[in-house]
Amino acid sequence: MSICAERVAFTKAISEGETSFDYLVVCGGKSIDSLDSCLPCGYCRQFMTEFVKDDFKIYSLGPNNVITSYTIKDLLPHNFSL
Ligand SMILES: [Zn+2]
Repeated sequence: MSICAERVAFTKAISEGETSFDYLVVCGGKSIDSLDSCLPCGYCRQFMTEFVKDDFKIYSLGPNNVITSYTIKDLLPHNFSL
């Protein structure tokens, strides 16, 4: 398994001392003119829950520049917690 951009961004921010996160924006696709809706993978969702509150927002930029928003709790309602 490799590491996704979401975990790279969080890991880098945390290593730089950032501890507060308001939202994440994700987009993907074959080109900027051909966006596909995408969301963080399950591993990234779990990883993020360890650093954010349940109302943390994730915005997905999709086709025709439509933005859909979710909370981390929407995407991972039963996260693993210690
Ligand atoms: Zn991921």
